Amino acid sequence: MNSQLPTVNVFWFRRDLRLHDNAGLLHALRSGSAVLPVFIFDTGILDNLEDREDRRVEFIHLALSDMQHKLLGIGSTLEVFHGNPLDAFKALYDRYRIGKVYANHDYEPYALRRDQAIKTFLQGQGTEFITMKDQVIFEKAEVVKDDGLPYTVFTPYSRKWRALLANADLPTYHSEEHFGAFYQQVEQKPPALPMIGFQSRGLPFPSKDIRDSLISRYGEDRNFPGIPGTSRLGVHLRFGTISIRDLARKAMSLDETFLSELIWRDFYHMILWHFPMVGEGKAFKPAYERIAWRNNEDEFAKWCVGTTGYPIVDAGMRELNATGFMHNRVRMITASFLAKHLLIDWRWGEAYFAGKLLDFDLAANNGGWQWAAGCGCDAAPYFRVFNPTLQMEKFDKKGTYLRQWVPEYFEMNYPPPMVDHPFARKRCLDVYAAALKSDG
Ligand code: FAD
Repeated sequence: MNSQLPTVNVFWFRRDLRLHDNAGLLHALRSGSAVLPVFIFDTGILDNLEDREDRRVEFIHLALSDMQHKLLGIGSTLEVFHGNPLDAFKALYDRYRIGKVYANHDYEPYALRRDQAIKTFLQGQGTEFITMKDQVIFEKAEVVKDDGLPYTVFTPYSRKWRALLANADLPTYHSEEHFGAFYQQVEQKPPALPMIGFQSRGLPFPSKDIRDSLISRYGEDRNFPGIPGTSRLGVHLRFGTISIRDLARKAMSLDETFLSELIWRDFYHMILWHFPMVGEGKAFKPAYERIAWRNNEDEFAKWCVGTTGYPIVDAGMRELNATGFMHNRVRMITASFLAKHLLIDWRWGEAYFAGKLLDFDLAANNGGWQWAAGCGCDAAPYFRVFNPTLQMEKFDKKGTYLRQWVPEYFEMNYPPPMVDHPFARKRCLDVYAAALKSDG
């Protein structure tokens, strides 16, 4: 080991792109050594993105620029790599003596494999890899049944979650009070977007400043896609540009229903942790693997672009394609339509959403899709098939949402539904029943 090299501890940013209230970062900053902040544009992830204008990459880039700006102000700088994480760490050892590496937990199957490989490599260098819980309130087996088994139904899980929180303080990790511990050096310029193979679309991202009044009204407004009744914070939670603990504290003081949505987020992360096979393409309920999906590619193409003839489905898909966002109520309707009306394997829809959603999160997306298809834990029963027309009448009574995304619907020349609802409903029930009958 070259003793001329500067000694640092490393903090590795991943899904926690903020300098304040960051659990692992605080731990690192208090470690006694100067902390080198590092981010790696992981080609193992980026190479699988089809769209060279993928706005999630742009979002990350902006979040890094924001952190870089703050770090430069205190005489430090981010070290940003583009490549595979193992190579990035090897390159770091050429320039630094690394005491410890800190990061926050990441629960997705790919991330677990990546972290295990990094941990093994670091161990070989005599470096400890220390990770902490940061992106959820309760993780892994922190909320389990009295017998120690994981919950698979949301309501009792959420009851236990709330009880545990009532008896525990929600910590704030004041990382922002220890900035003096960042490693001081001249600016290292992060690569511009084109240097990592991406372009900006220049469209705005949802704000992370959320009005208290929106959260207070959330319970009443959240089901109506035509009004701005939900927070649109999904992308910020996904990349950690806001703190889940700050948001949960707000929710606790302002609206029970909003808090409940944050519990759903923890719930699906917990499910993915205990049942990792769901993240690798398996139905939570194995019997549903027997469903004889029709998987008609032309019909799938109509669903993707929003020309099914069901205006609420079409509006949702067009909103998704144009903005990377879709309202939760409409996600449920479009997902149910694909799996049940068209009998297209829910995994096709899951993958399509994964490619488009700004707030894409493996745990929540998979949970949402398995819920809609009926095969997930605590899923909608398979015999409950949303009627898209009734859903539209109930949740977009005045047509505000439709006017925005399918204005031609009001001009009387809208194409007829690609499949008749009563026919599709019966076909779905028959096919599901046939698959599940052999369950014994
Ligand atoms: P708000 O309604 O303001 O809720 C606040 C936050 O709570 C959300 O940002 C999200 O982090 C969390 N949340 C809310 N509802 C849920 C839920 N049902 N499950 C888990 N977390 C929830 N959510 C994602 O974050 N990423 C996804 O990839 C995703 N895919 C979905 C796919 C389908 C088929 C369905 C039915 C739902 C999916 N959801 C997903 C859940 C939900 O639709 C979104 O979290 C929500 O619409 C995001 O909008 P918002 O930020 O305005 O949320």
